[in-house]
Amino acid sequence: MTPAFARARYRADNYLYLLVEGDDAALIDPGDPAVALALAAAHRVTPRWIIHTHGHADHTGGSAELRGRLGAVVIGHGADASWFKPDEELAGRSELALGGLGLRVHHAPGHTPGSVLLEWRGRLLTGDTLFWGGCGNCRHGGDPSRLATSLLEVVGRLDGALEVHPGHDYAEANLPFCLELDPTSAAAQGRLEAVRAARRSGEEPPPSTLALERSANPFLQARSVEALVALRARRDEWTPRSPVPE
Ligand SMILES: [Zn+2]
Repeated sequence: MTPAFARARYRADNYLYLLVEGDDAALIDPGDPAVALALAAAHRVTPRWIIHTHGHADHTGGSAELRGRLGAVVIGHGADASWFKPDEELAGRSELALGGLGLRVHHAPGHTPGSVLLEWRGRLLTGDTLFWGGCGNCRHGGDPSRLATSLLEVVGRLDGALEVHPGHDYAEANLPFCLELDPTSAAAQGRLEAVRAARRSGEEPPPSTLALERSANPFLQARSVEALVALRARRDEWTPRSPVPE
């Protein structure tokens, strides 16, 4: 069987993911057990692992049920153990070998202390650390200066060709902020148009890449922790001045 990668939406804007390599499959942040099980069934696999990008309940709340239904092992970073208890610890690990699935793990604290980025076959699953056109907030156990350091030193070193697969679809909320900061950004305008075109045709937005985010997303353009912390604070206070015309 060729490797498979799939994404499914749950709640309004959460995403969960399925990785398949041969008979081995893992779910990433399967916050809605029914949606996760339907996605696995569509790919005729029984995931044996559940990996969490971070501990927040909208991503981890389905895992106890799925652990029971699938007999799966729950893997996550112990620094987020105040929200959930992983069976297997991610702290200190840069590689995960799960049967035929091999992932790279990049610890990227800030949105939460235990946030990680997961890299698999040219894709970067960014959880709530990096979004299309934005980054995670720090309102629920986060730390803006740690997030800034992770964006500069962890995300900043990764290959621009990596596809970006976030934990939420906030593209249509975030990109107008990018355009308010830089009204001439062709990258941000083009990305917003692509996302809206997908929605109008009833499809999910295509993934961006790190290179595209570096062109469109001001959180990957700031060059210092101080500038990033100020930008995060500005985004926290921001409301669109006027609707960006479709
Ligand atoms: Zn979160």
